Amino acid sequence: MAFGVSDDLLGTFVPIVVYWIYSGMYVMLGGLNNYRLHTKAEEDTKNLVSKGTVVKGVLLQQVFQIAVCLILFTLVNDGTGVVPPQPPLLVIAGQFLIGMVVIDTWQYFMHRYMHINKFLYRHIHSKHHSLVVPYSFGALYNHPLEGLLLDTVGGVLSFLLSGMTPRTSIFFFSFATVKTVDDHCGLWLPGNLFHLFFNNNSAYHDIHHQLYGNKYNFSQPFFVAGPRDAARSNGQGSRDFGGAPKTGLPIRTLYIYIYIYIYIYMIVCFTYYALKCI
Ligand SMILES: [Zn+2]
Ligand SMILES: [Zn+2]
Repeated sequence: MAFGVSDDLLGTFVPIVVYWIYSGMYVMLGGLNNYRLHTKAEEDTKNLVSKGTVVKGVLLQQVFQIAVCLILFTLVNDGTGVVPPQPPLLVIAGQFLIGMVVIDTWQYFMHRYMHINKFLYRHIHSKHHSLVVPYSFGALYNHPLEGLLLDTVGGVLSFLLSGMTPRTSIFFFSFATVKTVDDHCGLWLPGNLFHLFFNNNSAYHDIHHQLYGNKYNFSQPFFVAGPRDAARSNGQGSRDFGGAPKTGLPIRTLYIYIYIYIYIYMIVCFTYYALKCI
């Protein structure tokens, strides 16, 4: 028996499920005080909105995201019901890379403009900056218009310009979601593989959320653009308390991360195959 859940629907909903699971994991790790970029007291006093408001704001944004994704997949669907074949793995890897570059380029300039244009900053982008001390599930806490312009349109462009199939997009958007949540997690955990592969990471983006730092570090979510940004991407900036180790791969933490990544991958695959093939 087949539930007949299409790749289109999975590409729409799996990244949202992944968002809440991955950010929930970081909520559980929030008590690791030695690894926090800011103290819990700072989180409680500096942030301008409550966690309940953030959850509601993110859910609203995800409703918009669902609507746009469904419209997009309907438009690109040829109506035959035939699932496009997956290209070779090397091609998929290339599409991933193109998608990452496209989404980064789009978000960099849109994000920077939202800081330059005082009207847009005051009425739209400042909502994201009301979290001076970011935490995982606040990653998509944006004005709905910003969510639409930066995240959703950026995602649509990366999908269209890379030529990836809806099936590939399930994994691409899940990956982009995990990276965005990771950048807002508020922790600098040794062994985080993202910190090894990306200069654009939780410490880098944390600087941008600070009052002193919001003229820097506009790049998101994958790479670092421009020497001015790159100079502040070394993960040092905001960790001005405690002794959270920056380098090294304590083997236990590495195991935890490998476990988490496999777990997330399994959730995506399991959801896909369970709904698609049973
Ligand atoms: Zn900003
Ligand atoms: Zn942010």
